[in-house]
This record gives sequence, structure tokens and C-alpha cells, in this order.
Amino acid sequence: MSYFPEPVNRLIGELMKLPGIGPKSAQRLAFHLLRSDRDGVVELAKALVYAKDRTKTCARCFNLTDQELCPICRDPRRDASQLCVVQDTRDVVALEKTREFKGRYHVLQGAISPMEGIGPEQLRIKELLRRVQASPELREVIMATNPNIEGEATAMYLSRLLKPLGLRVTRIAHGLPVGGDLEYVDEVTLSRALEGRREI
Ligand SMILES: [Zn+2]
Repeated sequence: MSYFPEPVNRLIGELMKLPGIGPKSAQRLAFHLLRSDRDGVVELAKALVYAKDRTKTCARCFNLTDQELCPICRDPRRDASQLCVVQDTRDVVALEKTREFKGRYHVLQGAISPMEGIGPEQLRIKELLRRVQASPELREVIMATNPNIEGEATAMYLSRLLKPLGLRVTRIAHGLPVGGDLEYVDEVTLSRALEGRREI
């Protein structure tokens, strides 16, 4: 049995669907919102819907964008000979912060994970192969998937598909914490990992 009014329970229920938010955190956030003035709550609700409605994935690299192509794909100064494959838009941001990489990206939108039922067909792999085949300037594909089992498996899988196309396929160096997420790695570590990439 619940001690809160129905609208509050509903709010707590929605907040609990967010990652990392358990019942206690959901209650804390719900009561924070209920104590806030109405304008602030309306602004938050509008921002949620606005972000959801106005963002999509880049038609070329599947990075998050509010236009047809993301700013990186629109930038003619980016080096077309290097393509960096990442799992997530947040990894693009992490790599961009290092200012080390001048090429282009391809966002897979995840990694191969038999445990979670994610196979190659659920990722943007078909699009990657099509893109690679349509890019004669391309020389090197850098695998910057996460340094965990899923990320490694994905890098190996892609390497087997890409190498026969005559490309140099490299993997960013370790020194990255194994089992970690790329997006949480500091810029210096990530920058060194990129410099120390090796052929796979
Ligand atoms: Zn793009």
C-alpha cells in the first residue's frame, strides 16, 4: 500500500524508469519537483519534449544531431582518410575533447552482446560497411569501442569484415581501464590511447 496520492505515485513511477534511479532517489526527485514553483516544472517538461522531438541521428555517422548531418560530417576540414568507430554519441564527445582526432566518426549505437540479445544486425554495421565501400579516400578505421568484453568482441567482429577491404584496422591502446566506459575516461588517458593504437 502506498502513502502518497496517486499523481505522486505516478511521477515516482516514471522517474524510477530512468537509469540509476531507485525508489529512494525517485521519491527525492519527485518531492523536489513538487516543492519547486510551477514555471520551473513546466520548463523541465518542455525541455524533455523539445529534446526528444528535435534530435535525431546523423544520416551519415549516426551521431546525435538536430540537423540532417551532424557538425562533424558537415565540416569539410575533417580528414576523410580516418574513420573512428564508437559505440555512442557520448564517446564522440569524449574523443573530440582530446582534440587529437581530426578524422570522422561512425556511431554503432551499442556493442555486440549475446547476453543482452544484441547482435550485429541491431547495430549500424551494415551502414558502416556501405559507407566504407563508398569512401575511396578512407585508409584507416580506428576501433574505439569500450575496453570491455562487448567492446572487444565488436572490434574483432568489425576487423574481420573490414580487413579484406584492404584497410588498416587499428584498436585504441589500453591503459584504459578494462571493463570501463570510454565516456568516463579522462582526456589525457584517452588521448594517449588514441596515439598508441595498434593494428588488429
Ligand atoms: Zn555525422
